[in-house]
Amino acid sequence: MSSGQVRPGVGTSGGTPDRVLRATVGAAVAWMVLYTVATALCQGSPRAALFLGDIVYLVPLVAAVLVAGVAARRERGRHRRLWQLLAVAFAAQLAGESIWAGYDYLTADGPPAPSVADIGYLLSSTLMVVAVLVGFGGASRLRHLRGLLDSTLIMVSLAALGWHMLIRPQLTEAVAFADLVTIAYPLLDVVLLTCLGIVGMAGHKSVPMTVRLVGAAGAVNAVSDMIYTYLATFSDYDSGSWVDVGFEAGTVLCLLAAVVAVRRPEPPAEPRSFDRGMPLMPILISLTATSALVVFDKVGTGAVSDLTLIVVAVLFLTVMLRQYLFAADRAALAEQLALAVTEQQRLAVTDGLTGLYNRRHLMTMVDRLGAAPAGRPVSLMVVDLDHFKLVNDTYGHLAGDAVLQAAAARITATARASDVVARYGGEEFVLLLADTDGPEAERLAERVRRRLREAPIVVGAVPIALTASIGVASSSDGAVRHLLEAADRALYRAKEQGRDQVSTVAPPVREPVAVPGPTG
Ligand code: GH3
Ligand code: MG
Ligand code: MG
Repeated sequence: MSSGQVRPGVGTSGGTPDRVLRATVGAAVAWMVLYTVATALCQGSPRAALFLGDIVYLVPLVAAVLVAGVAARRERGRHRRLWQLLAVAFAAQLAGESIWAGYDYLTADGPPAPSVADIGYLLSSTLMVVAVLVGFGGASRLRHLRGLLDSTLIMVSLAALGWHMLIRPQLTEAVAFADLVTIAYPLLDVVLLTCLGIVGMAGHKSVPMTVRLVGAAGAVNAVSDMIYTYLATFSDYDSGSWVDVGFEAGTVLCLLAAVVAVRRPEPPAEPRSFDRGMPLMPILISLTATSALVVFDKVGTGAVSDLTLIVVAVLFLTVMLRQYLFAADRAALAEQLALAVTEQQRLAVTDGLTGLYNRRHLMTMVDRLGAAPAGRPVSLMVVDLDHFKLVNDTYGHLAGDAVLQAAAARITATARASDVVARYGGEEFVLLLADTDGPEAERLAERVRRRLREAPIVVGAVPIALTASIGVASSSDGAVRHLLEAADRALYRAKEQGRDQVSTVAPPVREPVAVPGPTG
């Protein structure tokens, strides 16, 4: 429907490759290679590892804070809030890392567990989740809430499973607060990834590059956090170890996301029609986790009776199946509704007989073009079929309709893709020609005139000869609203001078509104 819309100045630089962006990607890859090599080289030397893991490590993070700040200034609306939140999240991360580095350098044993640094880290992770929910919208609040519930479902399942099967059996003494803090990291990662999956995909027709990059960062951090959690719980973690390569990659991906946001601001999100697949993810994960827990207890400790097991399984499966069917049903409804709305929108701007744009849409386009900045040529032509009343009188009204349809098809075939072709009245058509000056419009009008008369229109084996008179008006200063009237005057002259011809008038002068114009 938008193919005929005239949007001056839009899309001229959309596809050009961005050198800064490419250079940043190159630098990011080079940094990661160097960082990995440096990590390998530092493994034997604690002091070098400390410098790498506490100081060099911070470079991309500092850059990410700065670029996210720039992105927050450049973006508008929802994306601005997204980058404001991400900038604060990165800054909180930086604060945490700096505190950690301070402990490493100023104390003998390094940071305690938990430490003040954890406040920065956890705040950062939490803000990332909020940023994703707030920023990658387009979806309704309700859908966000559903996303949050889905992630809670996944988080609780995984937490229970991880706790029950991995952590509790290995803990000899009571659970320390420090362990809970350590476990919070991978859990927040899961929440972040789930939110990204649900919000990012439900809120967009195609997932934007920034969402993909923040998602990739979240995934890399999640894996790193799991390894970190394992090390911190059962073994030892030191700055400059291999896990840091993972965290560094996550930071570099966040930096890339910020650079993409600065260089290529995302268009506002368009809501997707609906996604049948999404509800499956939380369902499958929580189902798997719950079954694993129950089976673990059944086999391991025998704490669950057969009957309980069966009832739990049946209830769980039924609820999940019902949930899925409900979602699928709603998806089908939403799709039908979207199709109906699209069809209604098409009908609202279309002429029923010819399929051209109708008069109302033409006037909208005239207004829109009139509101565009002046300085680009605009032309308009009015095409009026000659002695059309005679066609009706001779061959009947139905044959007249068929001739109108054929004439419309010929005009559309002659017009260019950017022209707005509308049926203005009974046997009158208007072509709105953006970025077209007078001579070009006249040539196009001449082509339309010849195309209409070159062969008779055959209706039910009866050839009906047809000619048309065309009035053309142009403007180079954006005075679009005067064009219709001017083209009409030109058309009148073409009729007067014998029909079957193109007539033009000089561009209308823009007159001050209050002063009455000269007569004629
Ligand atoms: P001129 O060369 O001066 O333009 O003569 P004309 O007969 O084309 O102009 P006039 O305005 O007198 O008549 C227009 C005719 O177009 C009258 C009307 O019956 C016919 N008409 C308008 N809308 C339709 C339509 O939707 N279908 C058919 N078949 N005829 C239509
Ligand atoms: Mg007419
Ligand atoms: Mg006519």
